Amino acid sequence: MEALSRADEQTLFQFIGKVRNFGNKTRWLITLAGIVKKDSKTPMTLEELIKLPGIGRKSANVILRESGKKAEGIIVDLHVVRVAPRLGIASGTDPKKIETQLMDVLPQKDWAEIGMALSFLGREICRPTNPKCPECLLNACCGYYKTRQK
Ligand code: SF4
Repeated sequence: MEALSRADEQTLFQFIGKVRNFGNKTRWLITLAGIVKKDSKTPMTLEELIKLPGIGRKSANVILRESGKKAEGIIVDLHVVRVAPRLGIASGTDPKKIETQLMDVLPQKDWAEIGMALSFLGREICRPTNPKCPECLLNACCGYYKTRQK
């Protein structure tokens, strides 16, 4: 965090220049490093993490998961926003509301893994167009697949 807070934007571009929205993310990284100051002071609760610039619930949930901390929520990215309603375990398009719906129906012991699992399902199988339903492990319990069978 100390080194990051002293970095200039041009230096960071070479590391994250291929990431979407890298200009804003670069500025957020330098700013949040200045706020946190030391690695040892990195917040490790969802409530504290989302106070940092550029850190929403999705990123906070990812940080907690990658740090091995107990999940306080569920990672909901654009893939989960698509897949969860197709499965029939959430509705709508608002990530926060979808996260709440998933937290209501899934046991907390599964929260850390389910977001990433649904995200990877969305990236590999449950694509926006032409989802590969016949080869999907969840097709027996998927609402979207059932409607396609009719
Ligand atoms: S069965 Fe089809 S729509 Fe349902 S989760 Fe799998 S790929 Fe997506």
